[in-house]
Amino acid sequence: MKLLEHQAKERLRRAGIECPTGRVARSPQEAEQAARELGATVIKAQVPIGGRGKAGGVKLARTPAEAHQAAAAILGMEIHGYTVPSVLCEEALEIAKEIYLGVTVDRDRRCMVVILSFAGGMEIEEVAANSPEKIAKLWPDPFAGPQAFEIRELTLRALAAAGGDDSLSKARYLSELVPLVQRLFKLAQDLDASLCEINPLVVTKSGQVIAGDAKIEIDQNAEFRHRDLVMELGPDAAAATSGDDPLEVEARRRGLTYVHLGGSIGIIGNGAGLVMNTLDLVKQQGGSPANFLDIGGGAKAEVVKQALEMLLLDPEVKGVFVNIFGGITRGDEVARGLITARDELGFKLPLVVRMTGTREEEGRALLEEAGITPAVSAPEAARKIVELLSSGGGN
Ligand code: GDP
Ligand code: MN
Repeated sequence: MKLLEHQAKERLRRAGIECPTGRVARSPQEAEQAARELGATVIKAQVPIGGRGKAGGVKLARTPAEAHQAAAAILGMEIHGYTVPSVLCEEALEIAKEIYLGVTVDRDRRCMVVILSFAGGMEIEEVAANSPEKIAKLWPDPFAGPQAFEIRELTLRALAAAGGDDSLSKARYLSELVPLVQRLFKLAQDLDASLCEINPLVVTKSGQVIAGDAKIEIDQNAEFRHRDLVMELGPDAAAATSGDDPLEVEARRRGLTYVHLGGSIGIIGNGAGLVMNTLDLVKQQGGSPANFLDIGGGAKAEVVKQALEMLLLDPEVKGVFVNIFGGITRGDEVARGLITARDELGFKLPLVVRMTGTREEEGRALLEEAGITPAVSAPEAARKIVELLSSGGGN
């Protein structure tokens, strides 16, 4: 889950990190009102994606009238596929320096990494690609967190890499960044964030260090530990996932392990390995799988029905291949689910089932009774479904 900037800044504030005062506005009138309270403002599109500045989604407004105008231009605008529903109106900063500070997961090192660069403001990916020497990194002990001396050393390395910076004295940089990095790191850990980023971390002309932008992404696999946050973000959190594949969003809602692949043959199997194998078999026969869908071990009839229903939501699906290896999963249970689903959903597409293992006999008998002939082997089933689709036949 990606938090919007204003949501992320609220988290930073609560963690003791300074952010500009701001208000969320959903209309030019609201933005104008906010500017009356705040003075010169920056009006910023609230969409869960970076690069808003370049896309025209960040505008400075010196007066309430300009804030009205800026909000009118930004609201409803499309930024990388997101329509802007709201803007954040913040007191404008007088920027002396833009710094990059982020905490993310370093998959190679299997721990979190703190990234600091005095080449802030730009996309960090760009800096990483063109001038990687300008980025300093720290891999803190995951239990102890970043220690003050480590952060001082990180800061000095980053400053040296940038050839120095005189927006603040070295001593000020060190004393500002030690608590800031520690708070950001703790926040990232507490939120199970895969990314907690301040870009730019602004040094103002008056020497204040403040978060100009904020990005937080929470690891999807840890969302169950942050139900309160998911609830709190309410309708905006839904907006934050709107860039995802809508079928995958729906599958997640149904609790299914599903990946949309875009082909025409819907696939259901139990166990990730078996499903991947099934995709290969279909490919080998010249077919194109529509999806990956793993109903897992011990799936009940209801889950099977959910899965079939899920495939039917995809208009590209022209046929379905169900591949079940019965271990904890019982053949008769799956067969019952398939038959009920087919009947209740009015499913008319070609359906090929391969079933083996626990309660195979019972399952096959049920299927045959219902007019579905189970295939003997998985390769045979793959061939059959591809043939059925290329001849445009039914089941
Ligand atoms: P992003 O492009 O989506 O990352 O959005 P940012 O919030 O980072 O804004 C992009 C750029 O706009 C920043 O790097 C700044 O240069 C500029 N900017 C943002 N807020 C202010 C502000 O309050 N004052 C000034 N002068 N510039 C700002
Ligand atoms: Mn930014």
